[in-house]
Amino acid sequence: MSPPSDDDFRTHSPTAPIDDTPTVSCSRCGEEWDLSYELDELQLGNQSVEQFALDHRRHTGHFPDDVSPWVVSCRQCPDGEQFLSEASAHRWARTHARHTRHEVSMDHADDDGVVITPE
Ligand SMILES: [Zn+2]
Ligand SMILES: [Zn+2]
Repeated sequence: MSPPSDDDFRTHSPTAPIDDTPTVSCSRCGEEWDLSYELDELQLGNQSVEQFALDHRRHTGHFPDDVSPWVVSCRQCPDGEQFLSEASAHRWARTHARHTRHEVSMDHADDDGVVITPE
């Protein structure tokens, strides 16, 4: 017999209510959006801003304000991409370097850039 434990409940995370609907603005478009659609319809919670940013870029080619993507660009060919997560950016850079033997630079507004070199 093991004593009852509440360890089983430690991973339970209550869905925190969101007080304010976040808004995203884009100075390039001169628009502002509230994210109630992302929050309510898509149930994205904390990822709603990130998802909105990715969708905005997919449709307009740029990120909205206050989003600092990782910019990955090849130093030897015009290829490049932008990512919101460092891990995704790094994976792209590594893959490109591996397949093309190109050097790829990774830059972020808040971080020092790094260069990924083919191994
Ligand atoms: Zn825009
Ligand atoms: Zn390249």
